[in-house]
Amino acid sequence: MRSTRVNRKGLRPASTNQTTSPREPKGLGAKISGSDRHTQGPSEMLLILMYHRAVDCRLGNSVPVLRAHFAHLRERCNVVLPGEPLLGQRLNVCLSFDDAYADFHGLVFPLLEELSLHALLAVPTAFVIEKTGRGLEERLSVSPDGDAAMQGGVFKEKAPFCTWEELREIASSGLVRIASHGHSHADLTRADVNVEFEASHSKALLERRLGVPVSTFVYPFGRVNRRSHAAVKREFAYAMRIGSALNTDWRPVRQPLCRVVADAVPDIVRLLSRASLARFEAKWAANRIRAAFGKWEPW
Ligand SMILES: [Zn+2]
Repeated sequence: MRSTRVNRKGLRPASTNQTTSPREPKGLGAKISGSDRHTQGPSEMLLILMYHRAVDCRLGNSVPVLRAHFAHLRERCNVVLPGEPLLGQRLNVCLSFDDAYADFHGLVFPLLEELSLHALLAVPTAFVIEKTGRGLEERLSVSPDGDAAMQGGVFKEKAPFCTWEELREIASSGLVRIASHGHSHADLTRADVNVEFEASHSKALLERRLGVPVSTFVYPFGRVNRRSHAAVKREFAYAMRIGSALNTDWRPVRQPLCRVVADAVPDIVRLLSRASLARFEAKWAANRIRAAFGKWEPW
């Protein structure tokens, strides 16, 4: 008789032929909905989690908390990267990290390696320096709240972001997919921002410096409008904002993919509770209705 542990371990890689424990209901797993409701809804659900830092703050979680998140997701969900097949038997989850702070290389990446988990890293290219001799503790000391690290020359002086040297190591690992987060981390809904430059220059720079294709764009601040989305869609196959909603596939009609905030979340089980997922699913349904009526802007 096959144990649950063996089954669960076999569920993690997206490409693995996955099976479920006989005790687990069909659909999105025990957490998302009852079987009756699920038979009338979509068969595949995608939850994209948004993270920033690996320190205990408003924009992050401590390493022990992140470890608990990752272990739970590895055990219970199908962890995927953009474009990978979604399963109907389990909740599909994509881990996304914004801004490429130094703690991604120093603290998050080792966790991903330890647990063999995949994640997406969104890099604002203007703040990446070639390499640094500064220690991790000093680099992490740059205020995690607000955008202090992006002010003036802080990124050169204190190296609070991953360097090109570190990004090359991360990108070549096979565990992390690199995404663009614009060049200067500008709000792309502002009329004075050159949206085309932010999208195309960051993509070209990442691809040239890292030698990997970059097919995903993550909107800085989650801010997006029709104009910026049109420009981004010309360069990227996938685009993400925030939105606190589930998705049903990688290419939603008109709107970017929605993400759910996972920073400052001490309990991942609660974030994935039946009630939470029901809320995210309701927003997904609202998005579909809005799209059907030609509404584009977020609610
Ligand atoms: Zn950002």
